[in-house]
Amino acid sequence: MSKQIFLCAINNILSGTCQEDCKFCTQSVRYHADIERYNYKEITQIVEEAKAAKAQGALGYCLVTAGKGLDDKKVDFVARAAKAVKAEVEGLNLIACNGTANREQLSYLKAHGIDSYNHNLETSERYYAEICQTHAWSERYETCENAKSAGLTLCSGGIFGMGEEQEDREELLKAIASLSPMSTPLNFYHPNPALPIKTRNIEREEALEIIRKARKLLTETQLLMVAGGRELLFNGHEEAMFQAGANAIVIGNYLTTEGLEPGRDREILNSFGYEAATSCDFK
Ligand code: SF4
Repeated sequence: MSKQIFLCAINNILSGTCQEDCKFCTQSVRYHADIERYNYKEITQIVEEAKAAKAQGALGYCLVTAGKGLDDKKVDFVARAAKAVKAEVEGLNLIACNGTANREQLSYLKAHGIDSYNHNLETSERYYAEICQTHAWSERYETCENAKSAGLTLCSGGIFGMGEEQEDREELLKAIASLSPMSTPLNFYHPNPALPIKTRNIEREEALEIIRKARKLLTETQLLMVAGGRELLFNGHEEAMFQAGANAIVIGNYLTTEGLEPGRDREILNSFGYEAATSCDFK
């Protein structure tokens, strides 16, 4: 059987309105990055976009909101969006990515159709204190634990190339593995001139080494996803990331940067003899 690759799509349903100071994030209002900023999308639009992503082969569909975490208004909105998507689009593993969350909020999302929660640890605890002063890494870890205790499957990964040391990368991978996530998105920093972190300190070979190390730390059934920054590091070299152990990718656009056309991703997979997975067996 040919190797199956899981495809995941992202919908930024509330963009660019965050008051936090994460130095890698264009969605912080503090850095005035030139991105599209908007309040809640219409739920009908979210449903239509979910249908389009499914038609393009997505199995995972992630509803993302900017901001530090869930509040009553946000949790209600994400729950209504999830319920609407679940009612009209079959076969999607529905993921919420809404920042810091407590167990009660996460249980509410689960009751309304969310299957998984995405919350990235981003980097090591040590380096996180250097790149974010408005909240602590420990809150991120705690939210991941809350997601699992609410009965959601967990997606948790991080971003590499933000100026961290080799040791930080090792620590991050170990911390991720300690949470036993269903899926681990590996992002590679995409510099933006407005952000305090100006350059990316990672190249393709190092990124491949990270994929290999992550694969060794995770079990065969855990998804290892190459997410943001794939086009910067692996354009024309995609097979190497799959050979290193990745078995999932994000299709379509990222939160604030553009990806390849989803049709192009399918062509790339087919050219290696891989195929897009057609069912999620982690539910
Ligand atoms: S909390 Fe999330 S949305 Fe806000 S600046 Fe940090 S990473 Fe960006």
